[in-house]
Amino acid sequence: MGKAKAKRVFTFKRCPYCFTNLSLTAETCLGCHKRVGKVDRFGLAKKPINYLGYLAAFMWVGIFIGYIWFAFIR
Ligand SMILES: [Zn+2]
Repeated sequence: MGKAKAKRVFTFKRCPYCFTNLSLTAETCLGCHKRVGKVDRFGLAKKPINYLGYLAAFMWVGIFIGYIWFAFIR
């Protein structure tokens, strides 16, 4: 086996959630209406990072630690 072939060029990408074929410019899946990112090297759309979800998670951890401190340590 020789060197790896040149980058594959995809003409469509697939939703990482439901595997519906989408155009490369699609930002929302036609099948499940979830947000999708750019195509990766496997032809799948990347899952966009949900910053709001991370923020909410950090907030809840903060509230939890605050509660523990308030209830048990103070
Ligand atoms: Zn989908």
